[in-house]
Amino acid sequence: MHTTDPAALREALRGVRALLLDLDGVIVVAGNAVAGSVDAIAELERRGMPYRIVTNTSLVSRVSLSLHAAKLGNDIPPERFQSALSASAAFAAKTFPGQPLYVIASADARTEFAGQRLLSHVEAAEPGARAAAVIVGDSPDELTHANLNRAFRLVRNGARLIGMHRNPWWLTPDGPTLDSGAYVTGLEFAAGVRAQIIGKPATAFFSIAVDALRHDVAARGGRLRRSEIAIVGDDIRTDVLAGQRAGLRGVFVLTGKHGLDELARLPARGRGGREPHAVAPSLADIVAALDWQDHPT
Ligand SMILES: [Mg+2]
Repeated sequence: MHTTDPAALREALRGVRALLLDLDGVIVVAGNAVAGSVDAIAELERRGMPYRIVTNTSLVSRVSLSLHAAKLGNDIPPERFQSALSASAAFAAKTFPGQPLYVIASADARTEFAGQRLLSHVEAAEPGARAAAVIVGDSPDELTHANLNRAFRLVRNGARLIGMHRNPWWLTPDGPTLDSGAYVTGLEFAAGVRAQIIGKPATAFFSIAVDALRHDVAARGGRLRRSEIAIVGDDIRTDVLAGQRAGLRGVFVLTGKHGLDELARLPARGRGGREPHAVAPSLADIVAALDWQDHPT
């Protein structure tokens, strides 16, 4: 059933006119470019296929993601990225304008919150300190006990708890590595609250990306249905099934942290009865299987 047959892949992608691509496990893995991904992205650019990189990365800003991609040979401008971090910053600007926020994130990541009122660690530690929201991203240097304790106290004092994402772990050059989802869950447990999650698998996160793609297509006088958009990811739940819940086609790739074993292990009830629309060996295979005739140039 979970075939990687090229003909089946072509059939599953028929009519797809725009792509959402996960970053880790699709374009890069453990800091290196996935084989064939550089040429695949260049082909999307050459053909003018609308695409966005939708990533739960919260470690660095979109500018840094773009620079890192360039080092690996990919020309992906910052505005092509939609990260859990950038979406969290946009959400906070809209939801808590001018209000104090306590953001646990790297200095580079905090640049996405430019113009917003961020509490310093000292301010957050003051007795009776208050914030409109505590926003937790991934940062090995900032996710300290002291900072988490500040976050905990602020939440007890009424701050809304927001997780940029809930990823438990990811692959780095050192191997499987703890991600900030573990800390978000720890804060929920300690404070007795439920965090709002901004990145994947939140449906709202996909809707922002869909709007961006529709903007691209509308600029050429076209329209784009959700069923004409495919999400490509290496995480069956966070990318594929969540994208399908948002009305997109879900394509599972085998270049990342999860493989066919993971797909087979996931019980049917955990997927809401859904199967990926397609399983592909890599992004390169997906781009090669796209039906370019359906794509207006
Ligand atoms: Mg991934």
